[in-house]
Amino acid sequence: MVITRKLTVRDISNFVYCPLKAYISMRTEIQQIKTKQMIAGEILHKAFFIKVKHGIATLEREIQSLLNNAPRQMHNSLLRKIKSLTKSKIKIKLPHALIEPTLTSIVHQVTGKPDIVGFAKKPIIIEVKFPTNPIQEPTNSDVVQIIWYYILFSEVYNYQGPVSLLIVYPLQNKLFPIKLTQHAIKYALSVKEKLIATITDMAPLPKVRSRKCNYCEFKTFCHMVIRP
Ligand code: SF4
Repeated sequence: MVITRKLTVRDISNFVYCPLKAYISMRTEIQQIKTKQMIAGEILHKAFFIKVKHGIATLEREIQSLLNNAPRQMHNSLLRKIKSLTKSKIKIKLPHALIEPTLTSIVHQVTGKPDIVGFAKKPIIIEVKFPTNPIQEPTNSDVVQIIWYYILFSEVYNYQGPVSLLIVYPLQNKLFPIKLTQHAIKYALSVKEKLIATITDMAPLPKVRSRKCNYCEFKTFCHMVIRP
C-alpha cells in the first residue's frame, strides 16, 4: 500500500495512542463520527482561543454565538464549562498568537496544526486539552504530538533556538511544560517510521485492546476492522 497523502501529526499521535486507530483513520473509508464530546471539545477550544487572543471580556460577549454551534441539549453543560474557563487560573494572554496555523515539513513530508503558536520572549507552542477520560496529565501520544509540532515549526520558521512547549488543561487548571530533548525528538521521528511501516504493511499491526478504547472515537466500529 502506498500512502498518497501527506502524513499528519494527528496520524502519528493516533499511532502512539493505538496503532489500530491510525490504521483505521488512514486505511479505511470509515468516517469519524462526530460525537457530542467532539462538538464540545471544538467549542471549548474556540472559547479558549478567544480568551488567549482577546481576553475574558470578549469571551463573555461571545458565549451565545459559541453555544449556537452546539445542539440545544448541550447548552447548559457547555455554558458551565465556558464560565469555568473565564475563571480558570491558567492565564495566557498572547494577542498576536497564531491559532491552528497549518505547518508543513518538506523534509519529513508531515503536516499539522498546533492549537496555538505564540511569540513572546521566545516562541511558544501550546496544545489545549479538554479530556473526556479521567487521565488529566499528558500521555505519550500528547507529548509526541507537541514534539512533532516543534519539528514542523523549527523547519517552517528556520528556528533552532529555545522554545516553550506547553500542554494545558484549562478546566483542571493544569499546565505541563514539556521538555524538548534530542532524545524526545529522536523518539518522535522513530514513531513516524514505525507508522509508515505499519500502514504500508511492512510491519504487522500490533494487537491492541485497552482501557483507552473506552475513550476512543472509533470504539463503535473498531470491531468491524479485521484485527490480527
Ligand atoms: S477502540 Fe481501542 S483498539 Fe480500537 S482503535 Fe480505538 S483504542 Fe484502538
